[in-house]
Formats: sequence, C-alpha cells, structure tokens
Amino acid sequence: MDYEKLAQLLFPNITKTPEDLEIQYPPRNLPEGARVTRFAPSPTGYLHIGGLFGALTDVLTAKASGGVSYLRIEDTDKKREIDDGVSAIINGFADFGVRFDEGVTGFGTESGAYGPYTQSHRVEIYHIVAKSLVQKGLAYPCFCTAEELTALREQQEADGALIRGYFGKYAKCRDLTLEQIEENLRAGKPYVLRFRSSGSEDRRICFDDVIRGKIEMPENIIDEVLLKSDGIPTYHFAHVCDDHFMRTTHVIRGEEWLSSVPKHLALFRACGYKPPKYVHTAQVMKIDETDGAKRKLSKRKDPEAAVSYFVEKGFPKESLIEYLLTLLNSNFEDWRRANPTADAMDFPFNLKKMSSSGCLFDLQKLTDVSKNVISHMDAETVYARVKTWAQTYDPDFAALLCADAAYSTAILNIDRDVPKPRKDIAKWEDVPDYLSYFFDSRFVPSYELPQHVTAASAKAIAEAYLPVYDPSKDKDGWFARVKSICPALGYCPEVREYKKNPQDYPGHVGDVSTVIRLAVTGRTNTPDLCAIMQLLGKERVRSRLCAFAAHF
Ligand code: GLU
Repeated sequence: MDYEKLAQLLFPNITKTPEDLEIQYPPRNLPEGARVTRFAPSPTGYLHIGGLFGALTDVLTAKASGGVSYLRIEDTDKKREIDDGVSAIINGFADFGVRFDEGVTGFGTESGAYGPYTQSHRVEIYHIVAKSLVQKGLAYPCFCTAEELTALREQQEADGALIRGYFGKYAKCRDLTLEQIEENLRAGKPYVLRFRSSGSEDRRICFDDVIRGKIEMPENIIDEVLLKSDGIPTYHFAHVCDDHFMRTTHVIRGEEWLSSVPKHLALFRACGYKPPKYVHTAQVMKIDETDGAKRKLSKRKDPEAAVSYFVEKGFPKESLIEYLLTLLNSNFEDWRRANPTADAMDFPFNLKKMSSSGCLFDLQKLTDVSKNVISHMDAETVYARVKTWAQTYDPDFAALLCADAAYSTAILNIDRDVPKPRKDIAKWEDVPDYLSYFFDSRFVPSYELPQHVTAASAKAIAEAYLPVYDPSKDKDGWFARVKSICPALGYCPEVREYKKNPQDYPGHVGDVSTVIRLAVTGRTNTPDLCAIMQLLGKERVRSRLCAFAAHF
C-alpha cells in the first residue's frame, strides 16, 4: 500500500506536519519538576462539585510545583453540549476563586501560547497528526456502516469472543486496497479514521498512576476510531494530540478514564510522543439518607452536586474551598492549624496524599467548616457579603440591610470582635432568619416558654423588668439590673447558690434573662442580649416587653 498516496487522498488540504507543530508549541520553559496540568470539561453548562474538586487539584498541583495549569474546553461531543455551556463553568470557577494560568477565559476568549484551547478550534491540529499516522501506515479509513458494525457485534457474540470491538479478523476495512478505498471515496461513502493497532491479546502493559501506583492491564488491540465521519476527533485521539502539544506533564482526571489508559499509551507510542503521568482521582461520594449506603454524588438526585447550589445558598467561597481541601489532602488540617491565616491556595498540595478510594462529601461537615470560616470574618466583610448575596437571592432582605448600613453592621458585630466569636452563621441564607428580630417588619413574637416557667412568672418577670430596664448600661450594669428583680420574683440571683438548693426556687437568674430574651427577640438563644437591646433601642425594647406581658 502506498500510504503517502492514501494520506494525500484523505487529507489533501493538510500541508503542515507534526514537526511544524513541534516548533509552534515547543516544550515549555519551566523549572525542573514544574508540573503542567489541565482541567478539561465538556461545555455542559453544569459544574459538578467533582469538577471543582478536579480543578482545584490541577491548579494546586501546578502552583505547588511552580508550573502551569490551564483550562481546555472539550467540545467534540456535540450531543452533550449546550449553548454557551462554557460561561456557567467559567463563572463557577470565578465564584470560588479558582484561577487557571492559561486557557479559556470566557465564551470565545482565551489566553496563552498553546492554544486554541477549545477542541473544536483545533481540528487542523488533529488532522495534521492523523495524516502523519496514515503516512506511517498506522491509521486507515473504515467505511463500515452502522448495520455492518451491528452485524460484527452479533458475530462476536456468536463466536463467544472475549474481547469485543473492531480488531483483528473482525476489522473488515483494515486491509482494503488503495483502489477499494479510492472507489469508496469516489462513491461518497462516509468513513471514520481508525488506528491500526499492533497490540496483542497475550501482552500486558504496565504503568504508574501517581495515586494508585503500579497498574497492569491487557494491551489495547482495538482499532479505535481517531476521527469521526465529520472529521471531529474522538476523546482518545484529542487527548493525545492536545496533551502532547499543550505540553501537559500530569493528566489528572476521573477514575472512569483508567480503563482507557492502554488505548492512550498505544496512541502516544504510535505518534512518537512521551506519554504524560496519569493521575486518576476517585469520585466524590455521599452517604445516602435513605439507606445509609455510600454512593456517587449524583447530578440527578443531589442538589449539592452542583457548584451553583453553594452559590445560591450563600456558602462563602473560602468555606467550600477550605472543606474541599480537607477532602483532597489529609494533612490540610494540620497545615491550617500551623498557618491559620494563610490563603488556602498556598497550601503545599501533594498528589500522592490523595486517596484512591472515593472521598465523602458531607454537607454537615461543610456547614461546621463554614461556621468557623465566617466566625473569623469582620462585621464589615460579613455585611458586604450578605448584601451581595441578598441582592440576588433575597432582594427584600437586601433592602432592609441597606436601609441602615451602620445598624446592620453593628448587628453583625455582636459577639464577633471577641476572642471566641459565635459560630451560628454557616451561609448567607441563614442570615435573614438569624437577624429577623432586629427589624420590626420581620420580628415574630414567641410565647413558647421554657418548660419550668409558668405564664404567670413570665408576665411577672416582664413587668418587673420594665421599670428597671436602662439601655445605657454596660454589660455588667445590665446584668446587675436583671439580678436585682430576682428576689422579689422568688428567683435565685446566683446560679451557684441555686444549684445548692434548687427546691427553694422556681428558677435562677438565667431563667429570668431567658424570659426577657424571649420577650425582646422571640427566641431563647441569641447573641449577647445586652448588646441586642442597646441596638434595638429603648422604645422597641419597652414596647416588646409590654406586649409580651400583656399576652399572658
Ligand atoms: N472532557 C473529559 C470529561 O468530560 C475530560 C477527561 C480528561 O480530563 O481527560 O470528562
């Protein structure tokens, strides 16, 4: 067979060679040990938490080694694509502060010298490489129709073939003559371009996965499709061309690709390229609420599988990143304790410390992490963040907050600027309810008394407190006044004293302040009541106490 002639016949317009590409995309000039990683999503318009997980792995791996991370859009599978599915992905990363060094930066925009970074714009590159494979006799056109491929599958079933697919004696088009090919082309028959595998059923290949260690698998024997009938590459072929010419050193991708490695190594060898290091990451799992079983976090069943969920709920980006890092590297928490204020992105991430079994995404743990993260923010930051969130997701609340920024910030400052700040806000969505009693339009009175407090005592406490209440007092003075009404009500002003003889009293000063808290805020658990009352102001506090007393 005259392969040169065949190559010319199949790719008459391709004049560049792989050598030209080698010059156009030279090896990167990076320090020894620097890693080049990529995140390569399909533009589905949906960013799965597993995607954020993967992207963080890419970015941190590159950063920790002084390398480069880039974003490549894999849009060769038209079926999975949605209109402008790129922006949702880019915005998702931006929302969480994940920044690649190069690649696609928006719908139709990109930066970097190794582009284009969108596969549909790289067709010439794939055709240059494909042509060179045809020239070397390593790729051939296959004209089999869908019916013929079905017949082939049925034949393999009937034969009880252990390996299924287009290979060996089943590969009908592998040995077509140049004349037959020319005739098919003249007849306008559609064709795909297949790899001519030289693999053998009796051979095995061995490679090192950075997370999983040595892996042995049967060699690939399938004549895999490289270009589909429309000339668009398959994932396998695009992966080889792109990761070679973009000079990726570490291919970090989901474990579902592990079984394709033999194909990919065969293609790298055929092209004469050095394969990258492979890093197959485990899937993100969760415990199913219904049966307690561990399962994959699913786009269909779990709202929290979508990164957008965390934006809508108002989880600060720092919280999600902080939590994902605890899942990614077991030593993150130690590092965090040693570097409490460092930027999470400066964590010396290590691929080898990633688990090869699925990590568990636990919304409750994220909630705890987030409460801690928010507790360390100052009131101005919290105010600004809540406001931004509310402007999109709760505009009425945003209007309330903005009506008096100083009041709102002062509210958010209660119990914040102290050695042990409160940890009650996990996400911005919690704030409207948490602060509702500060706004008359949202205050909901409650008369649900603690178990041991009778309606008569509640009334008496509110009535006794009204005349002594003084908003100008500091915390100690405030508490002294609460204590001062205890004896007349029969309540013990000292908790320690009460504990010695509980039978002698209906309750202690704590119960009295709980009733006052309930009257003023409609809650039994709030931040510092003295500070709350100062902010609410005398009129509001008095009228709430009066209304409360009148209720019983
Ligand atoms: N586009 C592939 C996907 O959607 C990426 C796999 C890879 O990272 O190589 O999963």
